[in-house]
Amino acid sequence: MYDLVIIGGGPAGLAAGIYAVRYGMDVIVLEKSIVQGQISLTSVIENFPGFPSISGRELMQHFKAHATAAGVEMKAAEVKTIKDNGDSKTIITFDEEIETKAVIMATGAEPRRLGVPGESKYLGKGVSYCATCDGPFFAGQEVIVVGGGDSAITEALILSNIAGKVYVIHRRDELRSCDLLKKRATEKENIEFIWDTTLEEILGDELVEKVRLKNVKTNETKEMNIDGVFIFVGISPRTEIVDVEKTKNGFIKTDGLMQSSVSGIFAAGDCRETVMWQVVTAVSDGAVAAVSAYKYIMGLE
Ligand code: NAP
Repeated sequence: MYDLVIIGGGPAGLAAGIYAVRYGMDVIVLEKSIVQGQISLTSVIENFPGFPSISGRELMQHFKAHATAAGVEMKAAEVKTIKDNGDSKTIITFDEEIETKAVIMATGAEPRRLGVPGESKYLGKGVSYCATCDGPFFAGQEVIVVGGGDSAITEALILSNIAGKVYVIHRRDELRSCDLLKKRATEKENIEFIWDTTLEEILGDELVEKVRLKNVKTNETKEMNIDGVFIFVGISPRTEIVDVEKTKNGFIKTDGLMQSSVSGIFAAGDCRETVMWQVVTAVSDGAVAAVSAYKYIMGLE
C-alpha cells in the first residue's frame, strides 16, 4: 500500500511529489497523458519567480526533471474512480487497483467550452483552445479571440505576432485580465477589441469561414468573415472521478490545508476552488497538500 497517490502530473502534482519524497512518504504520481497539465499549452509565463519569461512546456520540463531527480515515481495511468474505504483509499484505473492511505487530486482543468453551434464541428478546422499549438496555421490571416481574462489576452498577444489581425470579442466593455496585459494588448496595432459582444455561431464549409456575433446592448447580430476562432472563456476542472464536496462548477472545496470534505483526500491546483489559478499557487497548493497528507497519515498510524 502506498502512503500517497497523487493524481495529476502538472505543477501542483509534481510539487506535491517533491515534498512527499522529502517527508519520506511512499508516493506515486499518476498522469493520464504525456502533455502534463494546462501549463504545457500556455505560450508564455512571465509571473513564475525565477523565470522572467518561459514557455509553459519548458517550465514543465524543469518541474519534471526536478521531480525525477528528487526520486518521485511517476506512472502513466488513467484513473476511473476513487473508492473511500475510511483509513485507506482504492484508486481504480483502467488497468489496475492501487491501495493508498491518502490521495491528492491534482487533476487540473481544461479549457471551458462556449457551447455555441459550430464549436465542436470546427474543432481542429479553425476552432482552437491553444494559440501555441494552432497559431502557426493562421500566419498572416484574421482570427478572433473570445474572452477577456488573462488567458484570452496572453494568447491574443501571441497570435498578434503570427496572424495579420486579431479581434478580441468580449461580452463586456472592460477586460478582466491584469493591467500589464491590458496595456500591451491595447498598444498592439493589429489587435482590435469588439466590446459588449458575444459569439453566437461559427459557420463555414470544410473549415471555419465566418462567425455570427451579437452586440449584447443593442441585440444586433452581424456576420464577420474570419479564418480562425480561439476560445479562452475560463477553465473547467477535471474532478468527476472523485466523490467529494464541490462548487456548482465542479471545483473541489478544501480547507486551508487542502483537505477536501473526505478525510485523506486532498486537492491542489486548478481542480480546487481558490481565489486564483496560477502556476505559483498550484505549486504552493501541492506543497501544502503533501505536508497535510503526511500529517494525516502520521495521525492514522
Ligand atoms: P477567467 O479569468 O475566468 O476569464 C474568462 C473570461 O471569459 C472572462 O473575461 C469572462 O468574461 C469570459 N467568459 C466566460 N464565460 C463566457 C461566455 N459564456 N461567453 C463569453 N465570455 C465568457 O479565465 P482564464 O483567462 O482562462 O484564466 C483562468 C485562470 O488562470 C485565472 O485565474 C487567470 O488569472 C489564470 N491565468 C493567469 C495567467 C497569467 O498570470 N499570466 C495566464 C492565464 C491564466 P467576464 O470577464 O465578463 O466574466
